[in-house]
Amino acid sequence: MNDPALEKVPVVDLKGRVLTPCSIAKAEQNLQNGLARLVDGVLHLNYLPLAYRKVYRMVRRRDGYVCAWCHGPGSTLEHVLPISWGGRTTMDNCVIACRACNHSRNNALPSQFLAWTGFKPTHPVILRILHDEPAALRRAKKSLRNRPIQSCASKEEAQIWVSFHQGDFDASRPQPPEQPISRFRPDSRPFLQFFVP
Ligand SMILES: [Zn+2]
Repeated sequence: MNDPALEKVPVVDLKGRVLTPCSIAKAEQNLQNGLARLVDGVLHLNYLPLAYRKVYRMVRRRDGYVCAWCHGPGSTLEHVLPISWGGRTTMDNCVIACRACNHSRNNALPSQFLAWTGFKPTHPVILRILHDEPAALRRAKKSLRNRPIQSCASKEEAQIWVSFHQGDFDASRPQPPEQPISRFRPDSRPFLQFFVP
């Protein structure tokens, strides 16, 4: 008999596209968290993980390989309003960032990151959100309330969606640190871990 730890569960996304199979433990976790349904032994995700890659490709085409924060070379997808605050994987919330900026900012708000670093971003996506950050946060929360889980483009987004609809979003929402903890403060720990999925 096969070792259950090694057995894999077939996975499809909302559109029925076949994704990489996952372990039984991971499938159970997805089911418990309301992120998927099990139909005839196949795990059907309630969100669209491939949408994430599509947005990444489009943002990279638009922005090139330049970090929108520090203007150095970069290639990671950065959510200007972080996913943990309700930010979405869309062209109007995403830019390209270098790994250092992306990791050191983690889920702090754009205004906080700029206050720590002194960067002067010129990217229109960042400027538009900074122009009225509280309004952007309100819109994000309203959007979480009104859209279905099927609109989520990654597991993190889907998890935030679920926690919001279970009513524990405000309580569990990670708070940015009072002090910057980043590569800009070499004495501190390398990176923040508030967002524990
Ligand atoms: Zn950077």
